[in-house]
Amino acid sequence: MERLPSLLSPLSSFRSSLALRHAAVARFPIARASFGSSCQMEAEHYKFGPYKIDQKEVFYSTNLSYALVNLRPLLPAHVLVCPRREVKRFVDLTAEEASDLWISAQKIGRQLENYHKASSLTFAIQDGPQAGQTVPHVHIHIVPRKGGDFENNDEIYDAIDEKEKELKKTLDLDKERKDRSMEEMAKEADEYRKLFS
Ligand code: AMP
Repeated sequence: MERLPSLLSPLSSFRSSLALRHAAVARFPIARASFGSSCQMEAEHYKFGPYKIDQKEVFYSTNLSYALVNLRPLLPAHVLVCPRREVKRFVDLTAEEASDLWISAQKIGRQLENYHKASSLTFAIQDGPQAGQTVPHVHIHIVPRKGGDFENNDEIYDAIDEKEKELKKTLDLDKERKDRSMEEMAKEADEYRKLFS
């Protein structure tokens, strides 16, 4: 699978993007998808912007949305939910896609928060390149949160921006954010898939 050279994105724009900042915060599969109710897993691979996502990385899907584990998670269970259809901007989604995306995010958040014994969730969208979007395909970041996971809560947003040198020092992001192997990602997706069966 192709990997991104750098997945982090400009911070300030992230802050102003559609992000629920305090932790509380179509239809076109690539092959052999079946359209029906939730949790269809038949697509051979999925599109995530220019990237081909192997079904092994996908742990949840509906006829309009799918969720994948993250190549470079910021915290355990930092996952992404996307429309199946490759659209760049939130405004490009149909009402059905937008609704399905957020309902999927709600379900996924609930299960992953519980599974990881977390106590809050960060949901965030970087909607467009100036908002810090690095993959031009709408996606909601879902991050289960626990007390103390970041010294200052909002550093999670800062952590998105590799270029912020001060913070980079604090969080040692270079060390922590290496691309993961397909094996590791597939194993994580296998665990999460069971939560939705
Ligand atoms: P954004 O900067 O909001 O566009 O976020 C892009 C997200 O996609 C980051 O969390 C990346 O770690 C993640 N990402 C990029 N490429 C892949 C990939 N091939 N598989 C899984 N996650 C990816």
